Amino acid sequence: MKTLPEKFCAVCGRRMIWRRRWRANWENVRYCSRACRLSGIGPIDRRLEAVMYELLQARGAQKSICPSEPARVVAHNEAQKDWRALMPAARKAARRLVVQGRAEMLQKGRPVDASTARGPIRIRLRPRPE
Ligand SMILES: [Zn+2]
Repeated sequence: MKTLPEKFCAVCGRRMIWRRRWRANWENVRYCSRACRLSGIGPIDRRLEAVMYELLQARGAQKSICPSEPARVVAHNEAQKDWRALMPAARKAARRLVVQGRAEMLQKGRPVDASTARGPIRIRLRPRPE
């Protein structure tokens, strides 16, 4: 079976599978969609990612966190009342950590494909290869 090349969106961290319309510039494709290209990664996104990784390290191996935890921390630090508004960005940050090989996404305690997981997720540090 022939498999198409794939890579991950720099913003949302979702898998992108080669498409015909990308054939001319596949090497330079960074975003899965116009929405991701326009939104890019801003300071809040970077903070969510950094805080998420700090929380994961603080929690330790095998332990997981909910993406709402960094969302609450960042919302508090930004004097932003509604941490729920940061949840979509927190899920993107979680997927970027997965793409970077620093974390894995869980549902019901089992690792899942971060690109396609729907519904409640948790994240934990990715076990280091021996
Ligand atoms: Zn994307």
